[in-house]
Amino acid sequence: MQRSHPLFRSASRYKSSIHTLTFIAVLIGIDLSNPLQAQTSTPQSVNQILARQHTCSSTLSLRSSALSTEQEQAACAQLGALEKHFHQLFATPSLALAPVKHDHNHSLRANIYASQAEYVQYASQHFNMPTDNGGMYLEGLPEQAGNHAEFVAYQRVVEGKQGQVHNLGHEYIHYLDGRFNLYGDFCATLHDSHAAPEYCAKPAPDAPYLVWWTEGIAEYVSRGDDHPHAIKAAASKQYRLSELFNTAYEKNNGRERIYTWGYLATRFMMEKQRNKVDQVLALTRVGDYPRYQALVRSWGMSMDEEFGIWLEDLAGA
Ligand SMILES: [Zn+2]
Repeated sequence: MQRSHPLFRSASRYKSSIHTLTFIAVLIGIDLSNPLQAQTSTPQSVNQILARQHTCSSTLSLRSSALSTEQEQAACAQLGALEKHFHQLFATPSLALAPVKHDHNHSLRANIYASQAEYVQYASQHFNMPTDNGGMYLEGLPEQAGNHAEFVAYQRVVEGKQGQVHNLGHEYIHYLDGRFNLYGDFCATLHDSHAAPEYCAKPAPDAPYLVWWTEGIAEYVSRGDDHPHAIKAAASKQYRLSELFNTAYEKNNGRERIYTWGYLATRFMMEKQRNKVDQVLALTRVGDYPRYQALVRSWGMSMDEEFGIWLEDLAGA
């Protein structure tokens, strides 16, 4: 079982491809200039294909086929800043942020193929994962010593030049959230996905889930307040907060609901209901997911009106 966040696999789990990311600007996409080549007869190892290795810090390394030195440095700087921001958000003055128990994911390795063609050709072989998507975060089995969290993606080739990697910040927050806020692997947390590579057991638990939080916090921390698309969407007041707690992957889903409205729900809770966020985290950090669900159910629709007013204020600001 692995924690994964496929970005483009299907409509329900489709990750917005053209976000206005301010820090990593060049996007993943289909590399039309470099069509899928035939499989070579001799399998090539991950270290042969992703031959460039770069260590950003004790918690982050990069392995790539074609990142430039400048791109490596930019990625390290961006993710280092995000890591600091994450700790500032979740540590308290009296308590440094500690990993959840049984988590051996001491660091994340970002594995970046040179193009979509190269990704499709090798990533399944190297990481035992599907490649009909824009990249995946693989938490693996964090309770096992020696487990290494992996992010696997590719560069877009833009006008013959190797671009940087879209969604790296979002994926890095998944790693930090999984390590510091959520006990257990992907299947242990609350959602309704049974997709590869984890094939979490059926039946799925009943709602409420944690999809609003996991995808929302990845968006919120990686973007901060700079999300014009979500601010515009806020004006529609399309969802009540109580509905968003039921957001899932297979139903009550969609790119907008999962990512844009996850961002809005998470931002509201972080800015306006931080004490409730801390109550949530006290439960998710020890894996007490039944009590998390009881807590969310106890809230009912009590915050819906305040959320609606906050959305109006945000859209009008
Ligand atoms: Zn995600």
